[in-house]
Amino acid sequence: MSDKCNARTKLGNKCRAPTVVGTQFCAFHGDLERAAELGRMGGRKNRHYLDPEPITIAPPSTPEDIKNVLAQAMVDVRAKRLDPRTASTLAYMSGFLLKSFESTDVQQRLARLEDASRAKADKS
Ligand SMILES: [Zn+2]
Repeated sequence: MSDKCNARTKLGNKCRAPTVVGTQFCAFHGDLERAAELGRMGGRKNRHYLDPEPITIAPPSTPEDIKNVLAQAMVDVRAKRLDPRTASTLAYMSGFLLKSFESTDVQQRLARLEDASRAKADKS
């Protein structure tokens, strides 16, 4: 997986921004792709999706939660219970959520390491 955005800038240079996890584009170009996709979909009427029953899901708090939400979304889109636009938004937000889990995790580990080394220094 490449870590650099696959899009080109207006000047035709390769975009150097890091990609959003699970996509080929940075946050900015991913947005443009999505906007274009929504534009194409806007032409069609998506009225053949069943009105979903009110769904309440707990806010995902682990990568595992995200995995489950996305897996269920795939099933629901396939069964036409979920509007692909909603699913696409879920997938999009999941990328950011995963990224924030990663950085939070790194921060917590760093804090533990710092505590441990401080404790060591205090003893000596
Ligand atoms: Zn980009």
